[in-house]
Amino acid sequence: MSRSVLVTGGNRGIGLAIAKAFAAQGDKVAVTHRGSGAPEGLFGVKCDVTNGEEVDAALAEVEAHQGPVEVLVANAGITDDTLLLRMSDDQFTNVVDANLTGAFRVVKRASKGMLRNRYGRIVLISSVVGLYGGAGQVNYAASKAGLVGMARSIARELGSRNITANVVAPGFVTTDMTDKLTDDRKKQILGQVPAGRFASVDEVAAVVAFLASDAAGYITGAVVPVDGGLGMGH
Ligand code: NDP
Repeated sequence: MSRSVLVTGGNRGIGLAIAKAFAAQGDKVAVTHRGSGAPEGLFGVKCDVTNGEEVDAALAEVEAHQGPVEVLVANAGITDDTLLLRMSDDQFTNVVDANLTGAFRVVKRASKGMLRNRYGRIVLISSVVGLYGGAGQVNYAASKAGLVGMARSIARELGSRNITANVVAPGFVTTDMTDKLTDDRKKQILGQVPAGRFASVDEVAAVVAFLASDAAGYITGAVVPVDGGLGMGH
């Protein structure tokens, strides 16, 4: 098995762990970055997912290098937290544009090759916050909840072509994104997580790799939590 895999935001954090997990099992793996370059051993394409032309060009580059994308992981994402009454329209739309519309742009472009090949595995990286909510995260939670409806609609549209679309909803994972949280907020979160700890990036990557595997061929439209029990299955 050596499939063509693309992980957006695969240059660091959870995305990098996902990219490495696929590379370790022998797949050809490309990652997007916004200027940092690709980590060693991975094929990097420069792409900001808020720019449709860059998405198109990046996918063309990946296709030329390793063939049409067979496994797509839409992982790129940002936060811009603040309370509802302080949140500007730009803060809301920018987060939705990166996290939700960005996933749409990449999935739409990649699905063309999947349809032609009658094979595809699409995994969208959401968050426990999408269904659980998060104070100060109206923009982020809305974007992450939107991915669930998106995946389920894709599952219905493309299911008969051997294309699956699933969502992975991590809880709190140790990365740059959560390093930004204050110690008090981290303590507060840990008090609510039955596992009593944050996840490692590899624990998320393993679930993504499973959903993209042959063993998971009959799983589609699912939301799989990797959250230490925080969302109790949601
Ligand atoms: P990081 O902040 O460590 O990394 C974010 C990644 O997304 C980087 O690769 C970044 O690229 C990329 N990215 C951000 N905006 C864009 C954009 N407009 N176009 C292209 N790439 C972009 O985040 P994590 O690894 O922690 O998070 C990865 C995903 O997992 C996100 O979708 C996040 O919402 C989700 N998640 C994370 C959790 C956590 O606890 N950490 C929990 C639940 C979900 P660059 O290096 O160029 O900035």
